[in-house]
Amino acid sequence: MLNFTIQNVLIAVSDDYATVDVQVVDNKIAAIAPNLQVIGTPIDGKNKLLLPGFFNAHTHSSEMWQRGIMSMFPLELWLAELYDFAPLDPEEVYLSALGTAVETLLSGGTSVVDHLVLIPGLELETIAIATRAYREVGIRSFIAPLIQDESLTAGIPSGESTQTHEPYFRSTAATLEIIEEAVRQFHRPDEGVNILVAPTGIQLCTDALFEGCTELSDRYNLCRHSHLLETRAQEKLAQEKYGCTAVEHLKRIGFLSDRTSLAHCVWLNDADIAILAETQSTVVHNPLSNLRLGSGIAPILKYRQAGVNVTFGCDGASSNDSQDLLEAIKIGSILHNITDSDYQHWITPRQAVEMASLGGAKGLNIADKLGSLTVGKQADLVLYDLTNLSLLPRTDPIGLLVLGRPTNVVNSAWVNGKQIVADGKVTTIKVDELRQELFNRSQWETKRKSETVAQIEAHYRTVMGL
Ligand SMILES: [Zn+2]
Repeated sequence: MLNFTIQNVLIAVSDDYATVDVQVVDNKIAAIAPNLQVIGTPIDGKNKLLLPGFFNAHTHSSEMWQRGIMSMFPLELWLAELYDFAPLDPEEVYLSALGTAVETLLSGGTSVVDHLVLIPGLELETIAIATRAYREVGIRSFIAPLIQDESLTAGIPSGESTQTHEPYFRSTAATLEIIEEAVRQFHRPDEGVNILVAPTGIQLCTDALFEGCTELSDRYNLCRHSHLLETRAQEKLAQEKYGCTAVEHLKRIGFLSDRTSLAHCVWLNDADIAILAETQSTVVHNPLSNLRLGSGIAPILKYRQAGVNVTFGCDGASSNDSQDLLEAIKIGSILHNITDSDYQHWITPRQAVEMASLGGAKGLNIADKLGSLTVGKQADLVLYDLTNLSLLPRTDPIGLLVLGRPTNVVNSAWVNGKQIVADGKVTTIKVDELRQELFNRSQWETKRKSETVAQIEAHYRTVMGL
């Protein structure tokens, strides 16, 4: 059991700040008040800000290998390029999971939802190795093995043409068996490792896959995760596939719930938004990915007004192209000021921080245990250095953390009471060795051509009226 006391640290209290001590006993926040008795290790919190850890609530760790090089394409063509060059051997999965964890931690995240791309034929091995990486770093992990049961071209609307698609290489039943086995082997919430059911989205999944996932979720008490209406093409596809919106369809087949989190949610109408509110589903906002792929601006202010829980994700590093959570939080909050001239609806820095912490916990159905500085909650904490140049001069610490361009500001981080960042460095793994491995296994590249894009681009342009 881990005990420590952070002394003289700044915390946010309603519309203000207070300097307090925070006692952590048996991995949980035991007391928050000035001048507490020191229990366990004393930690100097002077000139530092303590916040609950954020959630990187949607990413794909292995995309790290292709960040920076992906063409300027919309999602459907971008995906074709991504998969043509997905290198992916288990060692690479391991290294990119480590990298994703480190970048998330050093930008304020203590939890990561990894919508994990599986190596065909090595699915359980992929999950095992990502699990190992996250355990080694000590970040809280929510591994959402990315599954589908339709081939990639099925994700593009047919339009006027008749399209036929190759069958997917693995049966729906076999895919569900892999997930169930992953749950048996790796789902250990008490140890900070969680498995989610995570069909990639309506564009590449049958109802049978969604229903199988819902059934596993109910049986094993698992959270549900999926992409939803990221692009205009998917909105069109849903109409072709179901004759109604994707949200109406997902509600009908029972996938939406208070432990369902949905990445993107760009192309929803007002009735869809009401369904998300009614089912208490969570929206994961990935603003940088939506900008990079030209997907659109998710109507986040409308979600908030309708009472829909919203949190932030970086999305995979090939569509971002980083894993800086503070950057996603900044863009993801001020982006919406141009969508609604009523500034009273705009997201304030304090609201953004709450969305990133408590909002993330709600989306994973653990708001009773995580997401705020509350006595009794687990100690997933981040300490920011307020003497860092990017957080000076002294104004409003949360205002500058969200709206500024904070650089190397995370001084310490704890997950479940265990310190895994100290003096600005991850202490659990050798980050210098990770850098060396990433360097050695890659090369500077500028030109490559995707064969799949060459095959599908003309059809995509026709269907999308380009
Ligand atoms: Zn994604």
